[in-house]
Amino acid sequence: MTGLSSTNNGGGMIHRLGNTFIQALFPHHCMACGKFFLPGNKKRYGAVSFEDEMAPFLCSDCSGGFQAVASPICNKCGFMFVSREGDDHLCGQCIKRPMKFNVARAWGVYDRTLMDAVHNLKYNGKIQLAKPLGKMLLDTFMKYWQPEDVDMIVPVPLHKKRFRMRGFNQAYLLIKAWQKISRMPDIGHNALIREINTAPQIGLGKEERRKNIKNAFAVKNPEMIKGKRIVLVDDVYTTGATVDACARVLVGGGAVSVDVLTLARTM
Ligand SMILES: [Zn+2]
Ligand SMILES: [Zn+2]
Repeated sequence: MTGLSSTNNGGGMIHRLGNTFIQALFPHHCMACGKFFLPGNKKRYGAVSFEDEMAPFLCSDCSGGFQAVASPICNKCGFMFVSREGDDHLCGQCIKRPMKFNVARAWGVYDRTLMDAVHNLKYNGKIQLAKPLGKMLLDTFMKYWQPEDVDMIVPVPLHKKRFRMRGFNQAYLLIKAWQKISRMPDIGHNALIREINTAPQIGLGKEERRKNIKNAFAVKNPEMIKGKRIVLVDDVYTTGATVDACARVLVGGGAVSVDVLTLARTM
C-alpha cells in the first residue's frame, strides 16, 4: 500500500480508487443519521472519550453533535443547569418533591446524536452500539461510584411482552460486559420485574408519567436485594418517574440505598 501511494503520477488515483473500492466493499452507515461514511482512525491511548469510542460508528457531523453532562448539575437528580456558572446544588424539583433514589447521574445529554444512537439501538436493532455505549456508561459509573461501595447493579426491566417483541433489554445489554471485569458488583437482572405493561411514556407530562408507571414494578425475591446498596441502570432519564418507581419498590423490599445511572438524560 505504501509503495502504491508513493508512486508519483498514478499513486493518488490508485489510492482514491482503492478507497472507493474499500468503501464499496465495506460501506459504513452512520449509526445516528444513517449516511455512508469512511471511519476515521482517531483511536488514542489513555482516557476514554466519546469521539474515540464512537469513531467507527458515527460520521463526523454526528460525532460533533454530542454533549456530555457537566457541572453545575443538581446534586440529587443530576439535572444540568442552563447557567454554566457556579457549583452543583439542589434543583427546585428535588427540594419540592424528593425522589426515592439518592442520586442520579448520566453520561450525555439526550439530544441529537445520542438520541439517534439510543433510538437506533432500541428500535432499529443496531445492537453493535451497545458495546461502545456500554463502555461510556462504565466510564460514568467509575467517575461517580467506587465499585466496592455498590453491592448490586440492577437494570430497569422491560415487561415480558415488550421483551419478547424487542428481543433484548437495552439496559441489560449496556452493562452485560461489565461482568467480565474483576471486582465489579453483581448484576441483579432478575431483582426487579415489570408486572404491568404500561403504555409508552412518550408524549406524557411529568405527573401523567408518574401515575402511569407508579405500580408497574415489583421485587421478585426480597432476599436478593435485602441490605444491598443498589445502582439502578437505564438508557434514558426523562422525568425520573420510571427510576423513582423502581427505587420505591427496591427500598420497600429491603434495599439499603438506590442510586441511578443512565446513559442519557433530558435537560
Ligand atoms: Zn451521522
Ligand atoms: Zn434535582
